[in-house]
Amino acid sequence: MKPIKGRLLITALIVFSFALTVPARAEDFTTVDLNAEQVLALSWVQNSAEFKALAFQAFNIARLRWDMDKGGGKKCVVVDVDETIIDNSAFNAGFIGKDFGYGSSRWKEWCSAESAIAIPGAGAFLNHVADTGGEIFYVTNRKAQPEKGLDLTEVTMNNLKKLGFPQVDKKHMMFRTGSSMKGERRTRITDMGYRIVLLMGDNLADFDDAFDAETMQERDAAVKSNRDKFGDRFIVLPNPIYGNWEGAIYGGGDWYKKSPKEKSDLRIKTLRKFQFSK
Ligand SMILES: [Mg+2]
Repeated sequence: MKPIKGRLLITALIVFSFALTVPARAEDFTTVDLNAEQVLALSWVQNSAEFKALAFQAFNIARLRWDMDKGGGKKCVVVDVDETIIDNSAFNAGFIGKDFGYGSSRWKEWCSAESAIAIPGAGAFLNHVADTGGEIFYVTNRKAQPEKGLDLTEVTMNNLKKLGFPQVDKKHMMFRTGSSMKGERRTRITDMGYRIVLLMGDNLADFDDAFDAETMQERDAAVKSNRDKFGDRFIVLPNPIYGNWEGAIYGGGDWYKKSPKEKSDLRIKTLRKFQFSK
């Protein structure tokens, strides 16, 4: 029989090594941890010169396409708002170190501050469109649902006006009143007799309902079959912070109901990884 002290030491070692090998329980991985995973994407948007260069590139191409168009009639450009012409990254950065994420009351608080900044090149391009006889339709999923206490109309228009965007009025601002799908609002624009020269957005659903697919495979297939339209009729802005692409990596559907741990695991699981020899 071993001395008591020796047995205690062995037991302690077993318990300790077991504690090291047991994976973290799902509840140990919180929203704070999930939010922390966004740091690099947020830093890239806010701090990299490459983000600014890509934004200028997008608006330079848009201007080229707009100036090239020699068609007649009532011409317009359709733009999304968030992460296309204004930068809300400070809102998402506000979640770092906090145990909460996106929610409609948090979003309302941010929008009401009217402190989103302009995406580089956006104002100059849209003013060029207005100065050359075009109209701009702002098709946004910011809500105009006063019955639900969510009317972001006034604060959004104030924010855009402060930044010098043109034609910010009731006719040209198309908020979300029902579905998040934008096809119906695009149809309303063409029904008014406008010809859409180009569309700009950070989310594929800003361009065509064909992109309202939920899985990664479906979205990739829709992009492939529309490949000739990018840089022509569709001009995309980079958004590594959020978008339908994120829901797709969680498998679509009710992805937002997944726990922070499930989301983090799926972020890792969907990566292509090199297997190192050791
Ligand atoms: Mg957007």
